Amino acid sequence: MLVVMEKDATKEQIDSVITAIENRGYTARPIPGGDRTAIGVLRNKGAVDASVFLGLPGVKDVVPVTKAYKLVSREVQKEDTVIRVGDVLIGNGHMVMIAGPCAIESETQALTIAGHVKKAGAHMFRGGAFKPRTSPYSFQGLGEEGLKILAKVRQETGLPVITEVMDMETFDLVEEYADIIQIGTRNMQNFSLLRRAGKARKPVCLKRGMAATIDEWLMAAEYIMEGGNSEVILCERGVRTFVNHSRNTLDISAVPVVRKESHLPIIIDPSHAAGRRDQVIPLSRASTAVGAHGLMVEVHHEPDKAMSDGAQSLYPEQFAGLCVQVRAISDLFKGDEGF
Ligand code: PEP
Ligand code: MN
Repeated sequence: MLVVMEKDATKEQIDSVITAIENRGYTARPIPGGDRTAIGVLRNKGAVDASVFLGLPGVKDVVPVTKAYKLVSREVQKEDTVIRVGDVLIGNGHMVMIAGPCAIESETQALTIAGHVKKAGAHMFRGGAFKPRTSPYSFQGLGEEGLKILAKVRQETGLPVITEVMDMETFDLVEEYADIIQIGTRNMQNFSLLRRAGKARKPVCLKRGMAATIDEWLMAAEYIMEGGNSEVILCERGVRTFVNHSRNTLDISAVPVVRKESHLPIIIDPSHAAGRRDQVIPLSRASTAVGAHGLMVEVHHEPDKAMSDGAQSLYPEQFAGLCVQVRAISDLFKGDEGF
């Protein structure tokens, strides 16, 4: 349930509503909006008696939330969430381009690729330092050394960096270095990790589990928001299907569904969806047209020598061409209210 305050409600009135909610054993979560504050009533088992709150000074309305997820839902917040990372805004209508290698392999590799993607127009740099690999014999990432290289990339290029956190043990370390903390597909329902991400002081990019429904994905985001971190970016990266013409199947319809259900920004990772270079550009074009707020694309200057995911990595010149196309497509839809 959501308690919607009057526009001119005072801080004292808001505080007394919070106290009234908490006195009944629920959790109150104030959500400051553009022109009024709403207060989410969480952890209620069963229906809450709305009349108790309706009578309090400063309360305009009490709205039932019909979905199991609350804080992530559009019912609770009508306006799109916009997340600021340095000078980059995610969720405000322009396409954010995030690019870089699958894994950080060396300082030279990272700086070379970062130089290319920055020149092409990328807004952020990606690269894994801790890599979740199917085989224990595959390259597992450079760990802390990789994080230090990411810090160097940020310092040299000015690009904010996004990198994956895999476990609780390394969370503090990743949080210290990353501008956005990524939770990968394999950890989407790692609830202790989600709870820790809820306490993080950095935005979190939550990838969709490869076999997760949209409801499960939004509930995973709810864990992070419920923990107190409202800066969550959703990332669709393809789901498992029966096909073998691509690594996963990009669920492009997730974008309009998520944008209807949630105020959180949604970006698309076409690289892990496709698993092969020749599909990445077409899928990126479609992702732009369908209304994603950004793209996260793997790029490598020497993909044949890449230590992971070379087959799906774009060459830098392909990424540069893609940036031009993405700009043209998103310009077509600028100012389209229903988009
Ligand atoms: C990644 O982006 O580096 C990654 C491992 O992606 P996913 O979790 O989607 O497989
Ligand atoms: Mn990868």
